Amino acid sequence: MNAQRLLSLAALALLVIAPLVVSEFSVTLLNYIGLASLVAIGCSLLTGVGGLTSFGQAAFVGLGAYTTAVLTTQFGWSPWLTLPAGLALTAMVAMLLALITLRLSGHFLPVGTIAWGISLYYLFANVDGLGGQTGITGVPPLQVADHVLNTGREFYYLVWFFVVLALIAVRNLLDSRPGRAIRALRGGITMAESCGVDTQHYRAVIFLLSALVACLSGWLYAHLIRFVNPSPFSINLSIEYLFMAVIGGASHVWGAVVGATVLTVLKQWLQDILPRLIHASGNFETIVFGLLMVLLLQRARTGIMPLLARFLPLDRPVRVPALDAGAARQDAPLGARERPLAGELLLEVRDVVRRFGGLVAVNRISFEMRAGEILGLIGPNGAGKSTLFNLITGVLAPSAGEVWLRGERIDRLRSRQIAQRGVARTFQHVQLRPAMSVIENVAIGAHLRAGGGVIGAALRLDRRSEASILREARRQLERVGLGAELLVPAGSLPLGSQRILEVARALTADPMLLLLDEPAAGLRYQEKRALADLLLRLRGEGVTILLVEHDMDFVMNLVDRLVVMQFGEQIATGLPAQIQADPAVIEAYLGGVE
Ligand code: ADP
Ligand code: MG
Repeated sequence: MNAQRLLSLAALALLVIAPLVVSEFSVTLLNYIGLASLVAIGCSLLTGVGGLTSFGQAAFVGLGAYTTAVLTTQFGWSPWLTLPAGLALTAMVAMLLALITLRLSGHFLPVGTIAWGISLYYLFANVDGLGGQTGITGVPPLQVADHVLNTGREFYYLVWFFVVLALIAVRNLLDSRPGRAIRALRGGITMAESCGVDTQHYRAVIFLLSALVACLSGWLYAHLIRFVNPSPFSINLSIEYLFMAVIGGASHVWGAVVGATVLTVLKQWLQDILPRLIHASGNFETIVFGLLMVLLLQRARTGIMPLLARFLPLDRPVRVPALDAGAARQDAPLGARERPLAGELLLEVRDVVRRFGGLVAVNRISFEMRAGEILGLIGPNGAGKSTLFNLITGVLAPSAGEVWLRGERIDRLRSRQIAQRGVARTFQHVQLRPAMSVIENVAIGAHLRAGGGVIGAALRLDRRSEASILREARRQLERVGLGAELLVPAGSLPLGSQRILEVARALTADPMLLLLDEPAAGLRYQEKRALADLLLRLRGEGVTILLVEHDMDFVMNLVDRLVVMQFGEQIATGLPAQIQADPAVIEAYLGGVE
């Protein structure tokens, strides 16, 4: 048995024994920790992993609590029916809110969540039939089989059953195809979209999931306390949940529970001790929390889990599949692409223009690419090469002109849709997720080649397709020479290797058109030779390659044709020998010196 599993079992045993040996008061505290953990797990997924900050999670807790309070006390529903009702209502509200707020970017999103968080809170306080500030009393206790959960001790197991369930589901989810897409959301969407990830969809998914666990927590809360009023669902509490997620950090799923424990215990303790110290009553703990939050954000943004991970075996490495054929036969097959015939017209760039304000970064560029060729795109810094890449891959829209791929106009498509059509790319400024392992970064590239949604992943029903994705990622990494670093964090690789990682990521997409933006920058001579060999082999397999590169020896020996740009203009097009003899090119590169 590995250390990781041993630790989980020990934690589980501790959870089971705890209520039997500790005081009634401690059990109550543990129940609150469990309830807060559920919400914090959602916050951790949403904010820590997905990078979406919500200041409104407490309102979803309120939705769960009020739904069951109203339905049980006023309509006589059984609590076990109010749970699905609450979840359904929360899902509806969350989808509606997602529709209006998730479009917001930057700090507008948190501000948006504050707005609806406050709105829902006032709804609870002011709608007739919800009891105003006094709330609703007489919420019935929960019943499991014939057993009424009257005491905190009895309730404990139910709360923690759901916490453990949520932890396992989220851990499974994060370690899967949709999970990698979710983990790729943070830090800009360009890379994820270029791998075919529908980032808007996955933002909505984590928003929904975090709302649902919050609702579950509220339902449990209502039946534990047996009455509800608006105060526990205010924005203050939302901030505390967020704080718990920040304390825990996003690196480990358990972080949310640790954060919830630290904050709940600390709050209890501060509420005890502060009024005595200051000789006045009031919610002074809020002030201390505020200060702590600022300190934490300055000193330990990754939360306290990375610290704990030094002493405890918390890290569960990705299981890397073997490459032998026998093992691969059991995999679910990955989607493969029908290849264009050699010589078929693949890409047409027609008079493409891109302006940035007054600057014309790309000015009427036209060229075509045929299947199976390597086209070099060269030019001094600032010539517009990377911008042209962005225009072809849908990251930017052209100000004028057209881009056609196999007879279809693609310049109005999103980059995700262009990826779907078999175009993969690397970035001049590498775009990877430094904390994720090398193999997981590369596996993002295969996103479109397998199916599998969030529920299947949470239930671990995706193992065959997952194995084939990781096997493909490994195969491409071996191919580019990174087979020895599958499990190290991508950010720890030297920059040259990070570029090569991006090549492997693009290859896992099984592209027919590959766009490489300065892939050889930072490589040593031998590594460049290896890259050139790889590109030639890919061409042999029918992959068409558009390559930006500054190293003239590298380019001239590799490419079939060249396009030369300067200040956004296309100054020459032709075979390497023609380009080398072209006066305009010599002028551009040597500034007119003979
Ligand atoms: P290259 O890749 O050939 O070095 P780029 O395409 O990166 O050149 O840049 C071409 C020109 O466009 C440069 O002058 C650059 O400053 C400008 N540029 C590129 N992207 C943007 C942007 N998003 N906003 C404004 N100017 C940009
Ligand atoms: Mg560039």
